[in-house]
Amino acid sequence: MPSPPPHRRLAIDANGYANLARQVRSPNHDTRPVDALVTLVVIHGISVPPGVFGGDGIMRLFTNRLDPASHPDYATIAKLRVSTHFLIRRDGTLIQFVSCNDRAWHAGVSSWQGRERCNDFSIGVELEGTDDVPYATAQYTKLSRVLKALKRRYPIEHVAGHSDVAPGRKTDPGPAFDWARLERLTAPRR
Ligand SMILES: [Zn+2]
Repeated sequence: MPSPPPHRRLAIDANGYANLARQVRSPNHDTRPVDALVTLVVIHGISVPPGVFGGDGIMRLFTNRLDPASHPDYATIAKLRVSTHFLIRRDGTLIQFVSCNDRAWHAGVSSWQGRERCNDFSIGVELEGTDDVPYATAQYTKLSRVLKALKRRYPIEHVAGHSDVAPGRKTDPGPAFDWARLERLTAPRR
C-alpha cells in the first residue's frame, strides 16, 4: 500500500515564494520601497462575482483577464489593477500571485498606526468569501500556517483586517471572520 505523503511544513523561501502554494503570476505588483520591512499582514475577504464561490473570477481579476461582458458587476472592476500575495480558497487551497518580497496592490489607500500606504510594508492574504458568510475551517487552518511561515521569514508585528487599515472604505473580511479563532490557532504553544 502506498504510504501517505510526508507532512511538509509550509515555508517562504528567500525569494518570497511559498513552497506549498500553487503559483500564478500577477503583473499587478512592483518593488517595495528600499529598506521597507514587512511588518503587517492584511486579511481580506473576496468573491468574484460577490457571493459566488469556486469559480475563476478571482484568478481572472488578479491577472487582468476578467471579461467585462461576462457579468454586470465586471464592467467597473475589470479595469482595476489589483493583486494579493496569497489567496486561500474555501477548500483551503493556497494560491500565490506575487512574491512576498515584492509589493502587491491589495490595500489601496490605507494606513496602520499612523503609517500610510500599507502595501509598502504588508503582505495581503485574501480569503475567498463574503463579509457575512462564515469562513471555512480549512481556510482558518491554512491561514494559520501561512501566518506562521511568514513570521519565520519576516518581522511581522501585526495582523489586521482590510477594514482596519481602510475604515469607512472597506468592510472585508467582515463580521463573519472570527479573529478569536485565528488567535487560538496561531498562539504559541506552551
Ligand atoms: Zn480587501
